[in-house]
Amino acid sequence: MLVDLHCHLDLFPNYLAVKKEAEDNKVYCLCVTTAPSAYAGTKQRLESKYVKIGIGIHPEVAQERQGELGIFDQHVAGARYIGEVGLDGSARFASSMTAQIAVLNHVLRSAGAHGVKLYSIHSRGAASEVLTAIQPFFQNGPMVLHWFSGGVGELRRAIDMGCYFSVGPSMTKSKSGKAIIKLLPKNKILTETDGPFTQLSGQPMRPVHVDQALGDIADLWAAPVSEAKAQVWENFLHLLSQLPAI
Ligand code: MN
Repeated sequence: MLVDLHCHLDLFPNYLAVKKEAEDNKVYCLCVTTAPSAYAGTKQRLESKYVKIGIGIHPEVAQERQGELGIFDQHVAGARYIGEVGLDGSARFASSMTAQIAVLNHVLRSAGAHGVKLYSIHSRGAASEVLTAIQPFFQNGPMVLHWFSGGVGELRRAIDMGCYFSVGPSMTKSKSGKAIIKLLPKNKILTETDGPFTQLSGQPMRPVHVDQALGDIADLWAAPVSEAKAQVWENFLHLLSQLPAI
């Protein structure tokens, strides 16, 4: 049993083949969408025992897609997973930060009004801003910081708040990513790929590639891969146990 807690399965041109490969290898996938208008169709096309769909509005497109918040509100009651949502403070997107914050606050209020849900959160270049935004909404459900790249102070704050962290090969194979993973509590680590936006050996990363992250995590722990795999699986079950029964 493997876990890809943050991927964009719907954005692979050959998504049915990628889905089948994930299922054949028993990879449980959270397919996060980037715009509310993509949610219903993606759910219809892809949801299965192994593939679950998140409703989201990606911070990179928050400004241009804010008109879709009505669609978000329409579907959020029935959604168990929220993502991809968050803030992006990197140079290309910092100019839309005001709109991004308004969109994220809307999402957190709207989703929070409909019970406990799992959140997959983007925080590139805006870790402090994200933590400040989600803090009042922590009772809304487990918050998973995907591909966390903030500083050590921000990391400690996130850990103290009780955040989970999903880490992929892009993190486990980088020096800064390794430094973060070493500081994470073992019971808060999940695996992800963020494919197809990420690459491995020049190819878009597919859900099966979480095995690469597991191998690297095991190395960082000086533990066997079986231990990292079992720990991530236990963390995944604990995450799901916090959600209402279907
Ligand atoms: Mn993503």
